[in-house]
Amino acid sequence: MTIVEIPVPGHEVVLQATDPERGFVAIIAIHDTTLGPAVGGVRMWRYRGGFAEALADVLHLSRGMTSKSALARTALGGGKAVIIGDARTQKCEALFFWFGRFVDSLQGRYITAEDVGTDLYDLDLIAKETAHVAGRSREVGGSGDPSPFTALGVQSGIEACLAAAFGSPDLKGRCVAIQGLGHVGYWLARLLHRAGARLKVADIDARRVERVCDEMRAEPVASGDILSVACDVLSPCALGGVLDPVAISRLRAPIVCGAANNQLRDPECGVLLHRRGVLYAPDYVVNAGGIINISEERAAGGYDETRAAARVRAIGQVLGEVIALAQSEDIATAQAADRLAAGILDDERRRRAPARSACAR
Ligand code: NAD
Repeated sequence: MTIVEIPVPGHEVVLQATDPERGFVAIIAIHDTTLGPAVGGVRMWRYRGGFAEALADVLHLSRGMTSKSALARTALGGGKAVIIGDARTQKCEALFFWFGRFVDSLQGRYITAEDVGTDLYDLDLIAKETAHVAGRSREVGGSGDPSPFTALGVQSGIEACLAAAFGSPDLKGRCVAIQGLGHVGYWLARLLHRAGARLKVADIDARRVERVCDEMRAEPVASGDILSVACDVLSPCALGGVLDPVAISRLRAPIVCGAANNQLRDPECGVLLHRRGVLYAPDYVVNAGGIINISEERAAGGYDETRAAARVRAIGQVLGEVIALAQSEDIATAQAADRLAAGILDDERRRRAPARSACAR
């Protein structure tokens, strides 16, 4: 394996590993370890824009993990990894053993986990080469599928938004439109249905829509219409980049709160939402349930599901702080979240800086 460092200002270390003979290429980006070892999943994706697109993706995602973990108080830093390849056709044992050795070379500074294109089986293979793997199945002592915890955190975020916008967190009778009924979207639909919400749902997979409509009396909506449907809360739980200027101009929901990573097409879209008076719950604040659950694996005494769930339910309080700062400063919620996360990192850096001696003063 050949490992080379790619200098990237603002990142602690970015490494590219290659195996030209077998065609393996992976990147690990460690953005910031001020608060603890960098944790972030490994994404396997066939980047059509090649290496440059993969690098841009891993840098963006690893930065987001730093802010997410900071606000979620996980005592973890931010990192991410990508393996360039088609997860449907190019997975093999040798690839994940190789990637495991790449992770191991960082001696715990980066801890890997599941992400788009990788699953628990892949993590088992990686774990044969390194101990620095989190979020493995309950059978092998891990915290298991993070998705129900991510959904629980989004529910807590929606309740905080309802409280801020309507004066009550009660979901009873509220209409929530969910885009994407995969791992997180399905669990979220169940939680909201149980809390008495009315659901409008869309997915490009018709069977997923049918299931939720049958089980929860949800109203199906065409995928192309879900972002502009009339509702109290729009919950994007499918793809990133869905909130662009056109989508924002068509929104009929006063609140946007969902699990999808990187919902804003660019930072300016956060400002556009603010100007339109839409209450946007920054994605990395409300989708932190999975990483909070994973961080519980490191707790003294081991993983405890009840404690993890209690910490995930506190996401609503964190979002409440973000909303309060945004309101008091008249800034976008996305800007408020970034500011709070940066403040937590700065505090920790100051705390660690050696105290100046009396003589030096
Ligand atoms: P998933 O792949 O299981 O589900 C995504 C769903 O969206 C699928 O059912 C897919 O068919 C659907 N979809 C795709 N394009 C769509 C479109 N244009 N319109 C409607 N539906 C569409 O993924 P997931 O694990 O449920 O994650 C959902 C989002 O939340 C992702 O952005 C992910 O990065 C983010 N997220 C997930 C977790 C987690 O714990 N799984 C944690 C944090 C963030």
